Amino acid sequence: MDTRENVLIIGGGFAGLNLAKRLSRTKYNVMVVDRNNFHGFPPLFYQIASSGLDASSISFPLRREFRRMGKHVTYHMGHVKNIDIKAKTVTTSYETIPYDKLVIAAGTTNNYFGMEGLDQTVFGIKTVAEATYTRDEILDRLERGAICSDPVRRRKLLSFLVVGGGPSGVEIAGALGEMKKDILPREYPELNPDDLRIVLVEGSDKLLGSMDPRAGQQALDDLRHLMVEVRLGCVMKGYKDKIVTFADGTEEYWETLIWTAGVRGETMPGLPPEYVSRAGRIPIDPYCRVKGLDDVYAIGDIALLECEDYPKGHPQVAQVAIQMARNLALTLNGTKQPVPFRYNDKGSMATIGKNRAVVDMKGRFISGRIAWLAWMFIHLISILGMRNKLSVLLNWCWNYVTYSTSLRLLFRPAKYPLRKHWGD
Ligand SMILES: Cc1cc2nc3c(=O)[nH]c(=O)nc-3n(C[C@H](O)[C@H](O)[C@H](O)COP(=O)(O)OP(=O)(O)OC[C@H]3O[C@@H](n4cnc5c(N)ncnc54)[C@H](O)[C@@H]3O)c2cc1C
Repeated sequence: MDTRENVLIIGGGFAGLNLAKRLSRTKYNVMVVDRNNFHGFPPLFYQIASSGLDASSISFPLRREFRRMGKHVTYHMGHVKNIDIKAKTVTTSYETIPYDKLVIAAGTTNNYFGMEGLDQTVFGIKTVAEATYTRDEILDRLERGAICSDPVRRRKLLSFLVVGGGPSGVEIAGALGEMKKDILPREYPELNPDDLRIVLVEGSDKLLGSMDPRAGQQALDDLRHLMVEVRLGCVMKGYKDKIVTFADGTEEYWETLIWTAGVRGETMPGLPPEYVSRAGRIPIDPYCRVKGLDDVYAIGDIALLECEDYPKGHPQVAQVAIQMARNLALTLNGTKQPVPFRYNDKGSMATIGKNRAVVDMKGRFISGRIAWLAWMFIHLISILGMRNKLSVLLNWCWNYVTYSTSLRLLFRPAKYPLRKHWGD
């Protein structure tokens, strides 16, 4: 008789995957549910949006990863629709799954800070699907701009507003700046690079606010070099009928707005509101247990652990998710004495374009080409799968030498009625 307990993990991201990998095969049957059947690599999503990499280079099939871990780990696709903590079940779009222990590792989604309609109107890079959609919009606009004879309309088509001056905003703005500087003159001879307008707005008075102040200043200089207009202390208040309203009352017309300004915990339907805190995060104790609940844990971006070093919770970055997963595995496996979670901050980095990056390693700051090489190395070793690593490396080398990729192709998905031809 199988006496192992059933651990159900919601989410196959950095946290969920690393936990599944470490849970004892003699103690647990592990099931991971995720709405996607792949593990994505969010730090490089901006490169999907800017046609630097294709989505499959930085996505890895969950089934293949779990097959390697052993038969005690299984994967079911499904979007979580309800958690019933009394009945100890989770209902997804397709089934109801019983559990003995539940681990919520569902990450975050875009936070629009209460601004209405943004989920329908702005473009994002939070998921592979969003980044791909954003990429198609950018390419579509470049093609339409290239055949547009009205200079006013062309300028509107080719104006991109990036909201948020954190790493994601700086990286996508830098990538668009490189497009303007290197790609447009080569591949869009009909366009004047000045037709492409990129503006980055940030609410605070510096870029990359979570890093060393020198990183923000360097990013500002690099973005200006790439002809990106940066506005600091500029808070967006709303977006309706293509008009952006700023906190100082000014209004501007923008057709394409790329949102990178904030995240909130994924909504977990059924989880009573008393277990959910600020910005949708789930408060946990130092052993990653959801406060007030037995047998329910939360790790990664969605978890909120308030402690002396991080009174507002830990930064929502991959290292925290991975380290929380390791810590929880230690607690659940019970082979060693459980220890309270303590984040070992290894530093942070961001790239602004070719040969331009900033690295902040606990007070040691580097920028320029060395930082860029370090950035590439760290990202390459973190991507799952040898094929993916090689594919990304090849793409980067090719882009570096030729300034060109073959990824600027618009494959438009066929619409539903066409399925009739296939008989379903
Ligand atoms: C654009 C971008 C750039 C980033 N850059 C960096 C960086 O450079 N360095 C860094 O350290 N961090 C970076 N981060 C943050 C980093 O990606 C996160 O901290 C990390 O992914 C958190 O891991 P997680 O497992 O908690 O969540 P995730 O990796 O987001 O995984 C959550 C999983 O849960 C699944 N899921 C969510 N809701 C449901 C549901 N209802 N039903 C079923 N499945 C669900 C999702 O499909 C996903 O697979 C970046 C994030 C983004 C979006």
